[in-house]
Amino acid sequence: MATTSSNVISDLNAYFPARGPITMSANQNLADTVEPRADSRLLEITQRLTTTLDLESLIQVFFSEIAQDVDHDGMRYHNQEARIELQVGEDAVHSAHYELRVNQQDLGMITFLRRRPFNGTELKELEDLLCGLFYPLRNALMYREALRSAYVDPLTGANNRAALEMVIRRDRLLAQRQTQPLSVIMLDVDHFKQINDRYGHACGDLALRTVAQVTTGQIRGSDQLFRYGGEEFLLLLSNTAQGGAKHVAERIRIALQDANIPWEGRNLHLTASFGVASLRAGDDSTALFKRADEALYRAKRAGRNQVMGEL
Ligand code: GH3
Ligand code: MG
Ligand code: MG
Repeated sequence: MATTSSNVISDLNAYFPARGPITMSANQNLADTVEPRADSRLLEITQRLTTTLDLESLIQVFFSEIAQDVDHDGMRYHNQEARIELQVGEDAVHSAHYELRVNQQDLGMITFLRRRPFNGTELKELEDLLCGLFYPLRNALMYREALRSAYVDPLTGANNRAALEMVIRRDRLLAQRQTQPLSVIMLDVDHFKQINDRYGHACGDLALRTVAQVTTGQIRGSDQLFRYGGEEFLLLLSNTAQGGAKHVAERIRIALQDANIPWEGRNLHLTASFGVASLRAGDDSTALFKRADEALYRAKRAGRNQVMGEL
C-alpha cells in the first residue's frame, strides 16, 4: 500500500527548536549553530547547491546529494505560484512531502519518492538535510524572477524587445542550420491613437493587454509573442512556412476583430493589420523584420484589418 507523509517546514527558525537542542534564527549562519554531524554534511550540501542559480540544476544537484544519505528513487519540486513543476529520478508509490517556507515566504513543495516506504529515521534525516536547500532555493527563485522581469513587458506580459534579440538569433541560426522554415508576423493595431485620444491612456493600456491576451490564445505553445514597440507586436513561429504563418495571422485578425474591450459600461472594439515574412537563406534578423514591416505597411495601405505576406 502506498504511504504518504506530509510536513510543513515553516523555516529554519521555527523548525530547529522543535527538533531539540538547536536554536537559530533565520538570519544566522548554519555553520555556527547546528550539531557537529549535521553541521558538516549540511555545509557540504549547501556548498554544492550554491554552485548554481539555475533552478533545474539546483534540484538535480540536491537530488543527487541527498541520495548519498537517504536512498530514494525520485524527487519532485512543485511551486504553484511560480508555476514550476520539476521531476528528477523516477516516479514511485511511496512519498514524503515537505512544504518549504522561509519567513512566511512560500518556497514550494519537495516530494521524495521511493518504491519502499520511508521509515521514521530516514524521514528525520531528510528533514535535516532539507534545511540545506532553503537559501539556495530562495536565491534560485529570486534569480528566476529577476530574469523573467528583464525579458517580459510589464504592461502586456508579452516578451520584450531584449528577449526578442536573444531568441531570434538562436532560432534563426537553428532554422538555417537545420533548413527548417521560420516565420514572423508583425501586428500593428489600427488607429490606436484614436483609442488613446477618445478614451484615455488607461483604456489604451487595457486595449494593449487585450491584444496580447487574445493573440496568445490563438497560438501554439512553441510560438512566441513579443511586444515590438508601442502598439506593435511580433510573433515568432518556428518550423512554420509562409502559408501556415498567414493562416495563423488571419485567425488572430478575426479573434481581435471579435474581441470586446469593456470600458466604462461600453464594449469597445479594435482591429489590427498584419505583415508576414519567412526566413530566407542568408537572412539576418534585420532583413527578415524589414520584409515583415513592408508587408505590414502594404496591409495598412490596402485599408487595414488584413493580412499581407511577402511579394
Ligand atoms: P495606424 O492604423 O496607422 O497604425 O494608426 P495608429 O494610430 O495605430 O498609429 P500611430 O503609430 O500613429 O499611433 C500609435 C500610438 O500608440 C501612439 C502612442 O501614443 C500609442 N502608444 C504607444 N505605446 C503605448 C502604451 O504603452 N500605452 C498606450 N495607452 N498607448 C501607447
Ligand atoms: Mg505603429
Ligand atoms: Mg497602429
